[in-house]
Amino acid sequence: MATLFEKIINGEMDADIVHQDSQVTAFRDIDPKAPTHILVVPNKAIATVNDIADDDELVIGHMVTVARDLARKEGIADDGFRLLMNCNEHAGQEVFHLHMHLLGGRPLGPMLAG
Ligand code: 5GP
Repeated sequence: MATLFEKIINGEMDADIVHQDSQVTAFRDIDPKAPTHILVVPNKAIATVNDIADDDELVIGHMVTVARDLARKEGIADDGFRLLMNCNEHAGQEVFHLHMHLLGGRPLGPMLAG
């Protein structure tokens, strides 16, 4: 079964896509937790951080450089931002297609709620 994010990557489901190339897709989160809240995802289906293979290092690195460039484009690079990946139940992962949250545009507070 394709995840929501696979459908967005393949153009089968609407999303506000801000970047797409042969390796990654980035789109705005449907329920933003900050003025900038973008999800950067590999085009390849990888369910969780636990499922990243050694061979995936290039695409994982590319997710970070895309996030860096998007932070600059959004005008949040200098003030600062947060990159976050949730893995499995204790982190509250909801969508089982690897994704990196790019959050910024206001002070983000402590890293963890409590
Ligand atoms: P997780 O909790 O798995 O780290 O984050 C999943 C994120 O996906 C959440 O922030 C949620 O708001 C976002 N999300 C869930 N469904 C959709 C959707 O259909 N479209 C978009 N753009 N974001 C979604």
